[in-house]
Amino acid sequence: MIGFYLVEVANNNIQDGDHNMGNEFDFPIEPYRIKVVEPIKRLSREEREQKIQQAHFNLFNIAAEDVFIDLLTDSGTSAMSDDQWAGMMKGDESYAGCKNYHHFTESIQSIFGFKHVIPVHQGRVAENILFSTILKKGDYVPNNTHFDTTRANTMHKGGKPVDLIVKEGRDPKSLEPFKGNMDVAALEDFIIEKGKDRIPLVMMTITNNTAAGQPVSMENIKKTSEICRKYGIPFFFDAARFAENAWFIRQREEGYADRSPMEIAREMFSYADGCLMSAKKDGLVNMGGFIACNDDALEEEMTRLLILIEGFRTYGGLAGRDLEAIARGILESLEPDYLEFRIAQVKYLGDRLVENGVPIIQPVGGHAVFVDAGQMFPHIPPSDYPGQALTVALYREGGIRGVEIGGLMFAQKDPVTGKEISPPLELVRLAIPRRVYTNAHLDFVARVCGKINDYRDKLRGFEITYQAKYLRHFTMKLKEKKSAGSTVDAQA
Ligand SMILES: *Cc1c(COP(=O)(O)O)cnc(C)c1O
Repeated sequence: MIGFYLVEVANNNIQDGDHNMGNEFDFPIEPYRIKVVEPIKRLSREEREQKIQQAHFNLFNIAAEDVFIDLLTDSGTSAMSDDQWAGMMKGDESYAGCKNYHHFTESIQSIFGFKHVIPVHQGRVAENILFSTILKKGDYVPNNTHFDTTRANTMHKGGKPVDLIVKEGRDPKSLEPFKGNMDVAALEDFIIEKGKDRIPLVMMTITNNTAAGQPVSMENIKKTSEICRKYGIPFFFDAARFAENAWFIRQREEGYADRSPMEIAREMFSYADGCLMSAKKDGLVNMGGFIACNDDALEEEMTRLLILIEGFRTYGGLAGRDLEAIARGILESLEPDYLEFRIAQVKYLGDRLVENGVPIIQPVGGHAVFVDAGQMFPHIPPSDYPGQALTVALYREGGIRGVEIGGLMFAQKDPVTGKEISPPLELVRLAIPRRVYTNAHLDFVARVCGKINDYRDKLRGFEITYQAKYLRHFTMKLKEKKSAGSTVDAQA
């Protein structure tokens, strides 16, 4: 379990316009105070060394209690508010028609506006149910960028996932404000080339998780929607981080500075026919998700499968208390104070890293900072996984857990030579759980990264000693290379 604070949301009813807490001091201030704490501890250097060796240098094999600051993911790791915990006590655990289901539906409809809301226990089940229902073998699913499980579920149903992100989104040096956008010209060309009958839906991921959490503009949403309507193709959002995306629109897009995140979110969804959502992100809960849509026939067909694999229509794999926590959390995620702090805190970590000379992907996205390990360790070739060198060093030096997003996760095999082809970037993602860590924790993370940067030429690469055929990064074992300095003197 990740260190968390039970938070008391301090500014529930603050007026729009007052949400500039801390801005005049140029640093983000938590818009909540702490009511319950979970102790976290940092093992000694010797203990950390022992743990990382025992884990075969794979951070997924380390017990969470042996981690000091856990930045593995922002998914399902949020701290709930006092109001959410109070709501959990109001869980109605009736099999059918529990009152929390009605609150859940009402709360989601107040933001998303779709006619039907189907609960599921997490996002990937929403993908499974939707794709099982509308995909035929050989169909294409365009997206700005598919998230891993969206891609995998598309392929599992015989579909072909297609990523059509704008070119700036592939350029780590570009400072464009909406690097998560869909390439709308490429989308239209693609539809014309393949024919609309081979494309049962177009998806858009907000924020664009796989593309460093970069946002999508309202203009881009509108244009994508227009193209979908022109060709009669349903348009669905993958909405896991919709609230963070709304905040970026407010901050960066002309005409939205005075609009509330709620109004912006409502406008976003007004252009679509439905959405999938993992509530483990902007739902501010530890488990949950849903599918929403307007189409009655689609809802009916999905419900049949839901009952077969997830649960009855009014709970979909969740307890009544979980539905209540989502009903409350999803509204909290749109509070301006919360969002301002959230986005500013992630940027705060990015800024501190830059101050310490650590190369990162700019501009910083909504849920994580991505360190460019390839640039940080030019002496470690991509074939020796520079991202893993940093991930291991972060644990050794600070008990920090991040995740390698480079060759270990994404390398492809050359079909002819069988050799690995490295992805274009070797990154380490430091994902920030929502309302869990304070800025002091993040200062610590930045200092540890800065210290590693000071002795970076001593770090060594890794080789794989065991790997599974699919999703190898979760279970692989690794060995540290002998070259590039004798031993890593972490005291340096
Ligand atoms: C997390 C995530 C999913 C999958 O959701 P789970 O709740 O982890 O199953 C799908 N799409 C995006 C964009 C996500 O971030």
